[in-house]
Amino acid sequence: MTSHDGKVNIKDLTRADLTEQLIQMGEKRHRASQIYQWLFKKWIETFDDMSNISKSLREKLDRHYYISKLEPIDSVQSSSDGSRKFLLACEDGSIIETVLMETAGHKTICISSQVGCPVGCKFCRTGAGGFVRNLSSDEILNQVIYFKKHHLEPNKRFNIVFMGMGEPMLNMVSVIKAIEILNDESALALGEKRITLSTVGFVEKIKRLIDSNAKFKLAISLNATDDATRRKIIPNASNIRELLDAAEQFAIARDTRVTLEYVMLEDINDTAEDASRLAEMTTGRPFKINLIPFNEWEGCEFKTPSEERIDEFIRVLLPVAPAVTVRRSRGSDISAACGQLRASRLTTNE
Ligand code: SF4
Repeated sequence: MTSHDGKVNIKDLTRADLTEQLIQMGEKRHRASQIYQWLFKKWIETFDDMSNISKSLREKLDRHYYISKLEPIDSVQSSSDGSRKFLLACEDGSIIETVLMETAGHKTICISSQVGCPVGCKFCRTGAGGFVRNLSSDEILNQVIYFKKHHLEPNKRFNIVFMGMGEPMLNMVSVIKAIEILNDESALALGEKRITLSTVGFVEKIKRLIDSNAKFKLAISLNATDDATRRKIIPNASNIRELLDAAEQFAIARDTRVTLEYVMLEDINDTAEDASRLAEMTTGRPFKINLIPFNEWEGCEFKTPSEERIDEFIRVLLPVAPAVTVRRSRGSDISAACGQLRASRLTTNE
């Protein structure tokens, strides 16, 4: 663990908290916005680079705070779709992964919220690797900053999805703080449509999020149409009916639609009966359905459904369900499931 001599991690502070601390130091409140812009719009790494801040305040900041960052240690590009997966090292040496994807000219950054994941979804490589710890909000934000600084074109729109390692709802305080900073006009100024939080779904947490100030879209990793099957795939999964009711409440209250992600697994959840149940439970409700044919990975018990099965599923679902999209495997040659690149590197190093 890197020592910062008791200094405060400045990127881990909301603008309100930073403002409060600056006022206590005898500074004007607008300084917080200026500092935020340096940290989150210009991605500086030392207080000395804050050229519109007085030297005395820069020295004061340096005495009390430090600026965190992630170090890139490896990357691999998919030959099939051009997506690129990066391994980034935290200050304590923990390794997280972030993927840069491009669809029709739009870039999307897939970020992690935890090191590993405690949920243990049976189709997921990260789940198989176990859980290490939660990420702090600055570690979440630094993934975005890394891409802004090194891999995204200036002034070009991009999206963020919480679909990397970890279950965001099991790290709510840091995730929501990070989203509020992503939303902040003085920081990254990303609106609701640009950020998607993907979760296996926790009913009470979804209800609590309805009133959150954080602006984001919600996606739920549903993956089954009956509770017994869902619990086989996602241990301790919430009841489907209660989960969809909570998702609907969220969608109505925030005037949006919730995406239901459905990883298709051969002979597990890919039958015409599943498609028919999925249609029945979603018709007329504020949902979108995203079908994701499973990417096989070595050691996993599941198989990718055949093209015929996928087509049949869509044929049953499409006429009655809300909007349906099919996400054909992205980066299948670099990451059969989230966590794979990290896992293979760790295996090599052992
Ligand atoms: S799919 Fe998501 S929630 Fe499930 S084990 Fe993987 S990272 Fe965790």
